[in-house]
Amino acid sequence: MEFDLTAAQRQELTEYLAGLLENYYANIRNERVCPPLEPEMVREFVSKPDLVHGTSPKEALDHVVKGLSEFSVHTPHPAYFGLFNPRPNFASILADWITATFNPQMAAWSHNPFANEVENFLVMEVGQKMGYPPEQIDGNFGAGGAEANLTAVLCALRWTFPDYLQKGLQDLDHSPVMYCSAESHHSIQRAARVSGLGAHSVKIIPVDAHLRMIPDALSNQIKHDRSMGQRPFMVFATGGTTGAGSIDPLEKIADICAANDLWYHVDAAYGGAARFFEGSKHWLDGIEKSHSITIDIHKWMSVPMGASIFVTREKDILSKTFSIDTAYMPKEASQMDIVDPYTHSIQWSRRFIGLKFYLSLLFYGWEGYEQVIKHHLDMGQYLKTQLIQHRWKVMQESPLPVVCFVDADRPDDQGFVQEILTHILSTGKTWISQYPVLGITSLRACITNYATTRRDIDDLISGLEDARNHILSRSRLKA
Ligand SMILES: *Cc1c(COP(=O)(O)O)cnc(C)c1O
Repeated sequence: MEFDLTAAQRQELTEYLAGLLENYYANIRNERVCPPLEPEMVREFVSKPDLVHGTSPKEALDHVVKGLSEFSVHTPHPAYFGLFNPRPNFASILADWITATFNPQMAAWSHNPFANEVENFLVMEVGQKMGYPPEQIDGNFGAGGAEANLTAVLCALRWTFPDYLQKGLQDLDHSPVMYCSAESHHSIQRAARVSGLGAHSVKIIPVDAHLRMIPDALSNQIKHDRSMGQRPFMVFATGGTTGAGSIDPLEKIADICAANDLWYHVDAAYGGAARFFEGSKHWLDGIEKSHSITIDIHKWMSVPMGASIFVTREKDILSKTFSIDTAYMPKEASQMDIVDPYTHSIQWSRRFIGLKFYLSLLFYGWEGYEQVIKHHLDMGQYLKTQLIQHRWKVMQESPLPVVCFVDADRPDDQGFVQEILTHILSTGKTWISQYPVLGITSLRACITNYATTRRDIDDLISGLEDARNHILSRSRLKA
C-alpha cells in the first residue's frame, strides 16, 4: 500500500469514517455512559491486530472506533455529569481535522502567520473579556490548565527574582513561598515540584464554610512566613474550584497581593467561561486585577482536549521568562513586529491549538457561547431544585453548575453515599463522581455538556432514586 494512499482510497475512507463517527456522535445518548473496567480485556483487544503487516484501512478504522466505543467513559454523552469534560462542539472537531492536515508548526511566527495571528487575536479577546486593558495583554495557548498554572509559577518567579533564570533557585537569599486554598487544583503542587521549588513552597490556606479561601488567614500566613525569613512571591486564587465550584474572594485577595507585592494568579480553568456571559460575568469580579489567568478552552467552551489559555497583563513577562536565542530558528522576529511563540512558552514545536476555538466562534459566535453558558447554568439550577425535591441535601453553594449532595435522611452515612455511587456506575446509565465537602463524602454532579436536557436530569434523579431504594430494600432483607 502506498504510504499516502490514493485519492480514491482517501475519499472512500473519509466517507467511511465520517459514517462511523456520525453514528457515535448522533446516537451515543442511547448507549451506556460508562463500561465496566476490565484491564485484561482491553489489553487483549489492543494487542490483537497484526501490526507487523498492518490490516486493511477499514478494518483498522473499525478496530479503533470499536475500542473507543466499548472501552471509554463517554464524555460526549448527555448523561455524563462529570469532571468538566465536554461534548466537543462540531466546529471544533472539524478544526482538529484541519489542524492535523495542515500541521502548522507554531514555534515560529513566519511558518504560520495566519495561525499565529488567530491565536494572538483570541488571546486579546479573552484578555479583554477578563477585564485587562488591551494594551497590556499578552498570553499563549497551551495543552491545559496544568501547563498554564506552571507557566504562571515560572513568570511569577522571573518577576520576583529577575536573576533566577541564570542562577537558579539555589542562589536565592530567601526561600520563595506561594499560596493557594485547600480547595485549589493539585496542578499547583505539581508546578511547585516541576519548577524545582518543591511541595513545601506551597502554603495551603484554609477555606470558609463555602469552601472559599479565607483572606485573613492568607494575610496572617504571609506575615508569618516573612517573619520566618521566607519570601512570599505569588498567590493562586481559584475562580471555580474543581471539586465544588467555589469562587475565592477575588477582590480581597487582589488587595492582599497588591499590599504585599505578590504576583496574583487566578486559576479559572473551569469557571473562567462565566466571564463570557453577561448574567454571570460579575461572579469573577476582581479577576481583572490579577497579573495572570488560567482558562481551559477544553472545558466549558466545548472543544476537544487539549486547549488552554494563559493570559497576563504583564506585557513582557512571557518573553523575559522563556526567550532563548538559537542559531537554527528563523530570524524574522528581529526585523518585524511579531513574536515567535517558542520564545514565549514552555512548549516549542506545537500544534495549532487556537483553531478549534476560532472555528467555533466562526460557527456560533460569542452569542452562541452565551446561550450555551446560560443553558449550563439553567440546567445546574434545575438539577439543584430536583435534588432537593427528592430528598437530597446539597452540601455546598456555588453559582456554577456543580452540585455536591448526600441523602437528606442519612446525611452522616458515608457508606450509603459509596453504595449509591457504586450502584449508579454499575448501571452505566449516568456518570457522577464523589467529592469530600468539608470532610463529608458527597456525590458530585456537574453539567458539562451543552446537550444535557431536563430529561437527562430527570433520568439522573430517577437513577438516584432507584439506587436508594435498591440499597434500602437490600439492607431490609439482611435485617
Ligand atoms: C481542570 C483544572 C485544572 C487542570 O487543567 P487541565 O486542563 O486538566 O490541565 C487546573 N485548575 C482547575 C481549577 C481545574 O478545574
